Amino acid sequence: MEDRWDPTALTASPRVDPVAECVYCSRLIGADPSLVLHGGGNSSVKAARPDVTGRNVDAIFVKGSGWDMGSIEVAGFTPLRLDRLRDLLEVEELSDVDMMRELGAAKLDPSFPAPSVETLLHAFLPHRAVQHSHADVIVNLTNLAAERRAEALAEIYGDDVVVVPYVMPGFDLAKLVQATWPAHAHPGTTGMVLLNHGLFTFGDTSEEAYRRHVDLITRAEQWLDRHAPAAGRAEESSSPSSPSSPSSPSSPSLPPSAQLLTDLADLRRAISLAAGAPMVMRRHTDSVVERFVARPDLASLADRGPLTPDHVIRTKRAPMVGTDLAAYTSAYATYVDAHRSRARTPVTALDPAPRVVLDPRLGMVTIGRTAKDAAIAADIYHHTVPVLERAEDHLGGYVALPSPDLWDMEYWVLEQAKLATSSTPPELTGMVAVVTGAASGIGRACALDLLGRGAAVVGLDLADGVADVGSGPAWLGVRTDVTDAAAQHEALVAAVDRFGGVDIVVASAGFFATAPIADLTAEAWRTTMAVNLDAVASLFTAVHPLLARSPVGGRVVVIASKNVPAPGKGAAAYSSSKAALTQLCRVAALEWADDGIRVNVVHPDAVFDTGLWSPELLAERAAKAGLTVDGYKLRNLLHTEVTSARVAGVVRSLCSDTFAATTGAQVPIDGGNDRVI
Ligand code: ZN
Repeated sequence: MEDRWDPTALTASPRVDPVAECVYCSRLIGADPSLVLHGGGNSSVKAARPDVTGRNVDAIFVKGSGWDMGSIEVAGFTPLRLDRLRDLLEVEELSDVDMMRELGAAKLDPSFPAPSVETLLHAFLPHRAVQHSHADVIVNLTNLAAERRAEALAEIYGDDVVVVPYVMPGFDLAKLVQATWPAHAHPGTTGMVLLNHGLFTFGDTSEEAYRRHVDLITRAEQWLDRHAPAAGRAEESSSPSSPSSPSSPSSPSLPPSAQLLTDLADLRRAISLAAGAPMVMRRHTDSVVERFVARPDLASLADRGPLTPDHVIRTKRAPMVGTDLAAYTSAYATYVDAHRSRARTPVTALDPAPRVVLDPRLGMVTIGRTAKDAAIAADIYHHTVPVLERAEDHLGGYVALPSPDLWDMEYWVLEQAKLATSSTPPELTGMVAVVTGAASGIGRACALDLLGRGAAVVGLDLADGVADVGSGPAWLGVRTDVTDAAAQHEALVAAVDRFGGVDIVVASAGFFATAPIADLTAEAWRTTMAVNLDAVASLFTAVHPLLARSPVGGRVVVIASKNVPAPGKGAAAYSSSKAALTQLCRVAALEWADDGIRVNVVHPDAVFDTGLWSPELLAERAAKAGLTVDGYKLRNLLHTEVTSARVAGVVRSLCSDTFAATTGAQVPIDGGNDRVI
């Protein structure tokens, strides 16, 4: 492990501020995905804190919930009254719910977040600074058969660390360490290995705790390199994309065939129905995955359990190997029922759908309620695979915690409490939308609106800028010429690879050329028809099999024009193309109703914040009408401006369940037009 401590990073004043130093060290650890992933790990520092009376209070600053180590700030470290925490450590029994309430009451500032569930353990450790990770190499050593594990730890660490058997994080773990400590710790103790869980290091300063982390991790790495060379290490290190990056593309192996596309969409539909909500599904075919899914012992190895119990919330106890979903969900129901009596209070069963699927043909598919959740499951499993392989191939076998311990974590009372208090997600959460013309104007506004309502969005556009319209794991911008059917198919392949299927299509790409019929060129006519009509017809043909497999029923909204019901001079090609497009949609509404697909049309008028309208064109039209530009913009019955955002709001509503009983509709968005009314 590289020592990334930079003596110049902390200037003189924060150098004496122990919390700032703790922030810096936590970020160093949090920046390395082989140490902590997505909210894992925590840290603390004990320091005096002045209160309003001017007196100093003995405090401990502990990582608060909701903060990632990699991006934590001073505001993420909750100050607590240390003497009160020490009192709590004297209690013999305390439920985790009671413990969290007591920790809340021990905060020195109620505006800070709830502190880590491992707070009492941090408070107990007789060192000022503490850093905790779930390092891959530590869980690699601790998920082995008991004898092999003991040998390895003794060889690597001798007497330098205290080894603590697995118990649930929380009060029980704090008490176990408290009981273990006097017999095992000594002045030379630099760390603590929690079996099947992770590593703690400590010291007088956060720098010392960090340096000890570097030392203990490096010793584990060196031992593993000698005894268990990592599979495929050379190709991984030369690979430009890190598996932990949420935007890292899958390797471009075989382009999925039409059959593979519909197989993936079928799998997503079945998984979503099992989960009771639409789910996002991301496919991975990188070299780590390809090697793993080809193993003859895949089913046995993948079923053993996660590296650290934290992961069970993200990946479930085990992936689904193959595609027999009925067998997986029934095994999950059996597992829940078998352990249900372990809980002191009644538990709410979680959905039985897998979060990781491993299949020799599909590769690895990760699943989540959101694209972010699917990406997190992927990050975790990308770190899991090499650990499983090293343990199994070189260290006598991978041995995870037994099911009851994992069940305790999955159905932990604190996790169950989150279910009761979590707010309703945005209305389009888990749905996948394809938006054409997404780089500007109405298409861009629709893409951003759908993204904001929780959908995963694939934006298509001829413009390069489409990649940057949205950001984060729920956005995929694909530069595509929609008039090229092959390119359109490629874009759908990318959509299914990234998100698992398609539920929503918004066709917004458009072309407008103004000319009276007498001057209309054949080229202008053909281009208008190609973009506004032919491209949508070929998209409909290509996307129908995916929409028909949507777990929520497909939803299509096509941007037509006020020119359909009320054509204008000089727009013959445009009006004709949009009229034909409207007719295409009406037939689609008829033909696709049996597949549960709704097809609706909107007729916007005078949306001036789009690429179709240059300031010059706007000024020219206003002058022709004898109006100012502002007057021209508001020349509708309601005297209201029709913006892209307003159109996007209507489009999104038509895509939502609000319009579940509406298909074949044509909705004007024009501020009221007497020729249309
Ligand atoms: Zn932990």
